[in-house]
Amino acid sequence: MTGAVDRNAACSVKWCDETGTHAVHRKYIASLPAGLRGAGLVGVNLAQRVQPRATVCVELTVTTPWASTAGHLFAASCVADIAVALTEAAERATELHAIRQGNNE
Ligand SMILES: [Zn+2]
Repeated sequence: MTGAVDRNAACSVKWCDETGTHAVHRKYIASLPAGLRGAGLVGVNLAQRVQPRATVCVELTVTTPWASTAGHLFAASCVADIAVALTEAAERATELHAIRQGNNE
């Protein structure tokens, strides 16, 4: 192989949003403010490592102003359970916050 790789070359995988050389095919689904006072963004992507027979996974990324972006690939079959657990934790956090607010008044 010779010559520079075109940074803007579209990926041959149709659903992939990445261009140029990349180790993971990725489609960006959502980017949401997720921290206290809007600090940080959570990204939800479709992701597939550029390897033969790699599985398409769900990727969650966390970007903050103070650290490099962290990411994790989840098996698609696990995501529904994680979503349920996140929702339950959020409900309990909201309840606990409300109780604490009540006690302080
Ligand atoms: Zn790609």
